[in-house]
Amino acid sequence: MFRVCGIIAITSSSRREDLGHLFVEALKRLEYRGYDSVGIAIVDQNNLYIAKNTGTVESVAKSEGFTFFSGCSGIGHTRWATHGAPTKNNSHPHTDCSKKIAVVHNGIIENYSELKSLLLSRGHLFISDTDTEVVPHLIEEFKSTGLDAYSAFKKAISMLRGTFAIVAIDVSEERKLLFARKVSPLIIGVGRGLALVSSDIVSVLPFTDRVIVLNDDEVGYAEPDRVFIETIEGFPVDISKRVVKIDYHIENFDKGPYEHYMIKEIYEQPYFLTQTLSGLISSRDEVEKSVKLLEVADTIYLIGAGSSYHASLLGALYFRYLGFRAQAIISSEAIPYLRSVKSGDVIVAVSQSGETIDTLLAMRESMRRGVRVVAIVNNPLSTIARESDAYIYMRSGPEICVAATKTFTSQVLVLLYLGLMLMKDHQHTETVLRTLRKLPEITTSIIKSAEDTARKLAKKLSSEHSVYYLGRVFGYPISAEAALKIKEVAYIHAEAYPAGESKHGPIALVTHRFPVIFTIIGELDELIEGNIEEMKARDAYVVTYAPRDKTTSVIEKNSDLVVSLPQASLETSLVTYVIPHQLLAYYTAVERGYNPDRPRNLAKTVTVF
Ligand code: GLU
Repeated sequence: MFRVCGIIAITSSSRREDLGHLFVEALKRLEYRGYDSVGIAIVDQNNLYIAKNTGTVESVAKSEGFTFFSGCSGIGHTRWATHGAPTKNNSHPHTDCSKKIAVVHNGIIENYSELKSLLLSRGHLFISDTDTEVVPHLIEEFKSTGLDAYSAFKKAISMLRGTFAIVAIDVSEERKLLFARKVSPLIIGVGRGLALVSSDIVSVLPFTDRVIVLNDDEVGYAEPDRVFIETIEGFPVDISKRVVKIDYHIENFDKGPYEHYMIKEIYEQPYFLTQTLSGLISSRDEVEKSVKLLEVADTIYLIGAGSSYHASLLGALYFRYLGFRAQAIISSEAIPYLRSVKSGDVIVAVSQSGETIDTLLAMRESMRRGVRVVAIVNNPLSTIARESDAYIYMRSGPEICVAATKTFTSQVLVLLYLGLMLMKDHQHTETVLRTLRKLPEITTSIIKSAEDTARKLAKKLSSEHSVYYLGRVFGYPISAEAALKIKEVAYIHAEAYPAGESKHGPIALVTHRFPVIFTIIGELDELIEGNIEEMKARDAYVVTYAPRDKTTSVIEKNSDLVVSLPQASLETSLVTYVIPHQLLAYYTAVERGYNPDRPRNLAKTVTVF
């Protein structure tokens, strides 16, 4: 289940006329995380103002007049409902009875019903169905015993069970943002005369490039010129050691001339694949540390969720192709599988955000058993990177579209590179690296050769209810990723199957013009011709993506459409042959009138299981 939301809080040493504007901009940057409702609480001259409603940031900001707010501090939220329907009342921020304390929360408070009963018996009034609302009332309750805002906040946090990132604000101490973290991510932005607390660096970067990543079970407060952090047990944290500088470039967050982030990110692949590869080559220590762990592994288990799982499948196949024992496991299913993992095995945790909760929990469980973990992430500050024994930073730049494109191809590239390094066959590695250095040209030429067909085929697919994606061996994970893309952004039911297995069931559904899309990529290619013929014999609408040199007359004869892809080495095709499918999913979504950047019910970073 996908659950996530975004938190942003700002406090400034001077009163800002544009505070509402700042929140709109920051919330827009968080919106990709989850977006059924939006809200802000602003403190201005000893008053607390709340504005919230269901809808997108743009619509709610307009209807509730966000930009008219001025003040020195505030908290904001984009919600992905877990407890209580997405209604105005359930939107965050939530307040206490006296409307002096406001709270935003990401995650789930597991013991909220018992806390709520307790608070109701103490006379507190609740207006939402959320788990979150217990927090402002708990703070209010503890303040009534004479505690200051921060002490009351800390006491409230110590009573919560579950996963949370929480930020609270109290009118009595208007320049203090109170925060706490358990599992759900939270970072502090340290600016000049300005401090921020957010779920994500993306919303902090326009203000400052200096951040502190909170660890689990840390609480504290941020003031415009001071940040205080301690563990929930009360041990103070030395802030000076925790501030890191971020080197993301802000222009990466803008759509530029593109209509959607998805197409921008597809087009960015020639550039970012080069970044990933040169990063791998130049950061020797980073790679060596990971290789050292992997080379002594008995079995390598690759764990991932969504696209990261498909990258793991490709990675595991490639490791086996090179002669290593490897297996891919879906993160959310990993714990029972990992029962048989021994301390001689190694886990490769693949997660774009580095915060995927299922991957994190599986990784922690393995580490408890003495298993070492190598992580592959696009965020070196993420929890998975920080908790792993070694990590590789993908260097794909920020990916804003919920559906992964450029981070998937970079993940595959990193995994192939690790495999090559494990081989310790310098000559072979050099030969393959020479082909991988051509990735920018090949990627650009793949985009060129697939773009027109993608637009045309999108017209046909846009009126379909179902589609099969078939491939053999390496072609199967590529097909799985292709099917995931079209489901995610175009809402068309799609199923990926190992091509040879399709006659054991799926073929029963194939009737006149049923779309079946084949990907030919490397192993057992000759056998795929038979599968193509079988589908054609059932009058399917057959589309075949194949490298030029593998487009045989049988394929030509039995396919309604053949998309010829540039010839490439096995490794280069493993990285790039998904790109035509990304384009197809994108154009089909656009053809059907959907915004591919914001698929319904999905969120980018899945931080709650
Ligand atoms: N559990 C809270 C709610 O349903 C927060 C959900 C979220 O993380 O967006 O309101």
